[in-house]
Amino acid sequence: MSDIGILSPHDGSELGVVQVDDPASIDRKVLQARAAMEPWNRLGPMGRAEALLEIAERTRRELPRLTTLLSREQGKTPKEAALELDRYIGQFVQYSGLGTSVAGRTMGLGSDLVGYVERRPVGVVAAVVPWNFPASLFGTKLAPALAAGCGFIIKPAESTSLITTELTRLAQECLPEHLLEVVIGDGQVAGELVTHDAIARVAFTGSTAVGRRIVETAGARFKRLSLELGGCDPFVVFGDAEPASAVRALMGTRFYNAGQVCVAPKRLIAHASIADELIARLADRLERVVPSRWDDPTATMGPLHTERTRETLEQQVDDALEHGAQLIGGGRPKTPDTATGWFLRPALLLDPTSQARVRSEETFGPVLTVLRFSTVDEAISLANETPYGLGASVWSADRDLAWSVARSIDSGYTWINTIARVFDELPFGGVKDSGVGREHGLEALDSYLEAETYVVGG
Ligand code: NAD
Repeated sequence: MSDIGILSPHDGSELGVVQVDDPASIDRKVLQARAAMEPWNRLGPMGRAEALLEIAERTRRELPRLTTLLSREQGKTPKEAALELDRYIGQFVQYSGLGTSVAGRTMGLGSDLVGYVERRPVGVVAAVVPWNFPASLFGTKLAPALAAGCGFIIKPAESTSLITTELTRLAQECLPEHLLEVVIGDGQVAGELVTHDAIARVAFTGSTAVGRRIVETAGARFKRLSLELGGCDPFVVFGDAEPASAVRALMGTRFYNAGQVCVAPKRLIAHASIADELIARLADRLERVVPSRWDDPTATMGPLHTERTRETLEQQVDDALEHGAQLIGGGRPKTPDTATGWFLRPALLLDPTSQARVRSEETFGPVLTVLRFSTVDEAISLANETPYGLGASVWSADRDLAWSVARSIDSGYTWINTIARVFDELPFGGVKDSGVGREHGLEALDSYLEAETYVVGG
């Protein structure tokens, strides 16, 4: 097994070293997790609920230390890290309750026949997640899977191995030995894991390209799949919308986590009558964003997670400028504190032509594309012009119009006149190239269960 050093995106300092898994260790972990499902299921729903609550409590006790680690390793501000960990903990509280409601059914089938439907844990789950929300995306999979009775292997992005290992260690203290394990490594390691014979279900969050690969590999082996992929959400604002609220919502979502959010407005599609006012308000707010390090209390935005993420975004911006766009803000900050990190100032890209990459690709960083429309049909067609269909927002004082436009946009999650916050109580997931399956809510629990049918004669 080889080692990799984990570097902080704030300043390049080494935070720790982790050991990469190989096929033999993956095989051992998966088989041990499968064996550990027996004592886990013997506990029954109430026993499992208590363990889930214990994970929440155990993690909560370590919050200050975990918050700093998440912030330093991922790049987000300490405030954003605290919110993410709160989200992680909330999953265990939510599914401790929901897990006790899993039940099968019986049905008379005429004559002396009775049908029984049992809901059983699907098996060992392989969860593969990216680096942008390493804690919350782990929790949204782990909590419902445990509540359903499954064993679980988490494969984080290599660059967020430390926080994942720490969260795993705390959860392991509350669970049967080996039920939960972490596998460290790159795409090749992940490929070994998701195609292992004893993996029954793959819960993936990441890019559309890798999601497609998982369909070809794990999908071809009939593993149960959920794929939460990329997004390029439209944020449609009509002329009668309240500009201050729309701008507040945009600032709270597009630039959150330095813009590295799958479900965030990436394209502002504004009616021509309100576009200039929105742009002026946004430009004013952007001036006040302070990109800086985790230990600078004035920081309101952290660095991008990797050098490659920053370069890709800069290339997308250059391409948009070549395709007629006007840039407001942007560029690398020039303060001494930010010199050795992957920082980028937030930006608006106004009116790129339809050939620009930002019109069809996801922009994974603090850049908002702005497009203008005149008619309702034009707004819908711009909203639907990308291959993605994750989230969307519609803003108008005319509720009938807002509903009708919301229903015409291809997306799995649509907000009307409100900030794009994802609620744990509701199903979340995409359509088109944004993926298949749903996380959160009852739907997530269901996706870790298999229905088994029996028919019994008299
Ligand atoms: P990525 O797809 O490159 O990596 C995600 C994970 O997949 C990592 O753990 C990686 O090691 C693993 N992986 C790489 N190759 C693999 C293979 N061949 N088989 C199996 N696993 C493999 O994603 P990224 O660039 O690190 O993350 C950003 C992407 O994630 C963005 O597109 C973003 O929109 C998306 N995302 C989606 C959601 C959602 O809920 N829809 C949430 C967060 C992020």
